[in-house]
Amino acid sequence: MYCSHCGKEIDDDAVICPKCGCKVGKNKESNVMGLLGFIFSLVALFSAGIPFISFGIAGLVLSIIGMVNAKKKSLKKGLAITGLVLSIISICGFILQLVFSFFAISYFEEFFDYYITGLEL
Ligand SMILES: [Zn+2]
Repeated sequence: MYCSHCGKEIDDDAVICPKCGCKVGKNKESNVMGLLGFIFSLVALFSAGIPFISFGIAGLVLSIIGMVNAKKKSLKKGLAITGLVLSIISICGFILQLVFSFFAISYFEEFFDYYITGLEL
């Protein structure tokens, strides 16, 4: 790899550039926000219902923060991206569920109206 500071070619495992003495290499610090975003999104994905939509939103926000941090500090962003995708899926799933239950309720209302009217006739 090349030193990000002076541009000289250095050993891949080098932590400090032997030429200029600057810290080099990938940041080994873990992407905590990305991890949290991933966990929250996973919880939201595997649990249905209104309380968990907050997990989905939290997962989305944390994943975005994780991605921003990953870009700023060159951290790993795999979990943040996964968290982002999962949270979007869970939020979409929640919206679909909401729409579906809305239609289901109106359908059953019609059904019961019809049924009760039928009984009265
Ligand atoms: Zn250097």
